[in-house]
Amino acid sequence: LDCNLFSALRAAFPADLDATAIEASAPDGGWLHYSWRDLDRASARIANLLASLQLPAGSRIAVQVEKSVEALALYLATLRAGHVYLPLNTAYQQAEIEYFIGDAEPAVVVCAPANFGWVSRIAFTAGTRHVFTLGEDRSGSLLERAVHFGDEQLPVARGQGDLAAILYTSGTTGRSKGAMLTHGNLLSNALVLRDYWGWRQPQEEGGGDVLIHALPIFHVHGLFVASHGALLSGSRMIWLPRFDARVVLEQLPRATVFMGVPTLYVRLLAEPGLTREAARHMRLFISGSAPLLIETFRRWQERTGYTILERYGMSETAMLTSNPYAPDARHGGLAERRGGTVGFPLPGVGLRVVDDAGQPLAAGEVGHIQVCGPNVFAGYWRMPEKTAEEFTADGWFRTGDVGLQDAEGYVTIVGRNKDLIISGGYNVYPAEVEGALNELAGVQESAVVGVPHPDFGEVGVALVVPRPGAQPDPRAMLEELRTRLANYKLPKRCVVVPQLPRNAMGKVQKNLLREEYRQSFA
Ligand code: ATP
Ligand code: MG
Repeated sequence: LDCNLFSALRAAFPADLDATAIEASAPDGGWLHYSWRDLDRASARIANLLASLQLPAGSRIAVQVEKSVEALALYLATLRAGHVYLPLNTAYQQAEIEYFIGDAEPAVVVCAPANFGWVSRIAFTAGTRHVFTLGEDRSGSLLERAVHFGDEQLPVARGQGDLAAILYTSGTTGRSKGAMLTHGNLLSNALVLRDYWGWRQPQEEGGGDVLIHALPIFHVHGLFVASHGALLSGSRMIWLPRFDARVVLEQLPRATVFMGVPTLYVRLLAEPGLTREAARHMRLFISGSAPLLIETFRRWQERTGYTILERYGMSETAMLTSNPYAPDARHGGLAERRGGTVGFPLPGVGLRVVDDAGQPLAAGEVGHIQVCGPNVFAGYWRMPEKTAEEFTADGWFRTGDVGLQDAEGYVTIVGRNKDLIISGGYNVYPAEVEGALNELAGVQESAVVGVPHPDFGEVGVALVVPRPGAQPDPRAMLEELRTRLANYKLPKRCVVVPQLPRNAMGKVQKNLLREEYRQSFA
């Protein structure tokens, strides 16, 4: 039985292959229309080119290119050809690319035309035989070569357990690890999300959904959650090479679904044009990849009348939990999207919260989150020990996140194991302290990290970003916190900073902050 993810996506294309699948904003300011047939043919040609290279089974196709529809076609082509797609963050520089290519040993590397010199040097040194280029304007050798191949291709049969992609984690807590995802992992998750989020099909009354795709496609969020969602429901995408709040606002009246990381919502809220009227046509706003501040959640409700649906997932597992879109029969028909929570475990996902000894905790108690399900990855690329460490004896994956599940089933993430602060023997959850800080006047956002301390072992240092024009006083803030938090939770130092260091996915890089402030009490 063929379990190739592409076959499932292809089967969901609408009957009318000439209908528009993607409207892409072009570098020259215009719009390019791609039909479903265009997507099918372009990915077939590239798949045929890949097949002509006669690569060994399981070959990795590493790709570091600007976002374009052709880059999406290259992803689909890799699935069709039965190879393993390996997207790389466009922000990565030489030393990083050297690490990833050295680690993954791809058979093929595709890079931006402007980077061909240094990327090909690194690739050839690592033993890669083929380096192609692909520009955001359809330039480059990949397409020049692919046009000479036929536009029909039969997807190579794949089993559930065959690798479809290797996604390197964001590197928030340390060096990025390659998460190996199978065709079965990706398809099971995409099918669950299609149903749980009520993706509309083109033949339904009112037509299919229209997704504003403004995320990068080198990560789970943009490549899998967003693209698979639209493709698997035959829905159209408005394809933006990068996030631009004005362009998103301009497109809102034509769209029904938007997905973003929390910073995108903050940036949209800064636009006066974000009104109920502008959002009137929308069906769903989804947030994930990092915690959505409750303030953002509330302001979005006030400004647009819509409640953002927050979900939680990771490179290793794709999506794990989601707030409900519609009444969830598994949870007494609850349909409320609760701010500050990431909702219920998705259908088919097992989730438990355990203590340090691995014993399950009662509802409401904070502990380590472990998960299982058809979406959980096959292991870290070439890291068998690390893989073994992160799975329990009974086969559950240790997410590295700390949180709780309440009696109604809602899951709340309070932080990561690695960010937990143990101060004088007490556990301090940075998210709780940050929440208290964020409520103070003049505070835009904050981060609390643990640093070594001679008496307490570890204490928190608070980094606070002021609101525009505000000048909050660190001392006064700590005084104020004293009335809101138990003494052992109080940061021992507070510093006002212009901004927090974030990686390409908008995640605060606490490892950098810990490094910077580690001498605070030395
Ligand atoms: P690394 O594993 O290399 O340190 P990373 O964990 O940031 O990096 P990703 O796989 O991209 O790499 O991100 C997954 C993590 O993002 C989750 O483990 C979780 O900590 C965080 N996350 C995702 N969605 C949410 C959310 N809605 N709320 C809070 N945290 C979230
Ligand atoms: Mg991680």
